[in-house]
Amino acid sequence: MRNNFIYADHAGTTRLCDAAWTEMKPFFYEKFANPSSLYSYAKTPREAVGVARTTIAMCIGADPEEIVFTSGGTESDNWVLKGTSGGIMVSAYEHHAVLNAAANEAFFGREVVYVSPKACGQLMPETLARKWTAGIKLVSIMMANNEIGTINPISLLAQFAHGRSALFHTDAVQAVGHVPIDVHEMGVDFLSASAHKFNGPKGIGFLYIRKGVCLKQLIHGGQQEFSLRAGTENVPYIVAMAAALKWNCEHMQVHTAHLTALTDYFKSALLELLPNAYFPGTGSDEQLPGLVSVSLPGYPAESLTHLLDLKGIAVSTGAACDSRRTQVSHVLRAIRLPMSLAKCTIRFSFGAENTKKEIDSILEALKVILRRYKSPKQMALRKQRKI
Ligand code: PLP
Repeated sequence: MRNNFIYADHAGTTRLCDAAWTEMKPFFYEKFANPSSLYSYAKTPREAVGVARTTIAMCIGADPEEIVFTSGGTESDNWVLKGTSGGIMVSAYEHHAVLNAAANEAFFGREVVYVSPKACGQLMPETLARKWTAGIKLVSIMMANNEIGTINPISLLAQFAHGRSALFHTDAVQAVGHVPIDVHEMGVDFLSASAHKFNGPKGIGFLYIRKGVCLKQLIHGGQQEFSLRAGTENVPYIVAMAAALKWNCEHMQVHTAHLTALTDYFKSALLELLPNAYFPGTGSDEQLPGLVSVSLPGYPAESLTHLLDLKGIAVSTGAACDSRRTQVSHVLRAIRLPMSLAKCTIRFSFGAENTKKEIDSILEALKVILRRYKSPKQMALRKQRKI
């Protein structure tokens, strides 16, 4: 990484933590055996997979047999959507791993009902009730939204689904490792997680499947993962994922306090800089620590992202532009954010390693960018280029 680079896109992905890196290395080299092999050399990796499963289970209040390793959030989400039967209810602001899997199921004839969150970015059981149909057998509502960071009342939503004899899945990819999770308290049947969102490697994740709940197998082959998901286990990544989750859970209180202080400071400074700045998700009663989605009226998100990038600051935008049209994120549309704000919304997502000094540098960079963006010279240039 560049020395002066400021990374503020932790909801996009995170850097591997030291604990994960240390844990995984031996399994690439001296402990490389296939855990399914019968010889004694395979015992160490086999046991390591078992220990990792137990660690992960403990971190989310599950039993080890309820944890199945997958290739990440996308696979876990797809598995639940495709491995169940009957009608599906999903929220309109899910990650595309859920939305596109649901659309695919609809293509093959399954009923799919979409529900929209409230303007504050949360979903409530009343909203589900309004759109309920007798055929719905699975409800999939994300725990924390990846663009605006709002957290849903999962136990209430799961209770509601169970009350109507439907299973409940939550995509908790943004929440695991960052907010406390107890699957039994939450009452979910399935929960998706992805290691690279909590300082583990990319391409590994897990699916929690509540004991006794049926899910059709998606990947056939060997008998790995309790004969539920075939394929040789990715031992280094599995042990690293467990180490990363443990590290995050052990430091959760400290990380949360640090991130809350950083984001409170950042938000009030942003308001001083631009008093009409707006934070989508305002009014929700729970937010992911460290995620600040902000609309800066008059300053298109894509331009801001590029200008910040030129200054060595990595942030993300929900809007993707092409030369002819600007597509505004489905999340911002789902919460009915006015287009004028949605086009100007960027996401800062901070991690434990971000510092107040970095926040000050971001604010300084923004100050310069906002001033220059509206300067007569820049306005004339943009007019000339029709941008
Ligand atoms: N679900 C949510 C809420 C996400 O934020 C992401 C990744 O951005 C995914 C699912 C997909 O996870 P993965 O990158 O592990 O496939």
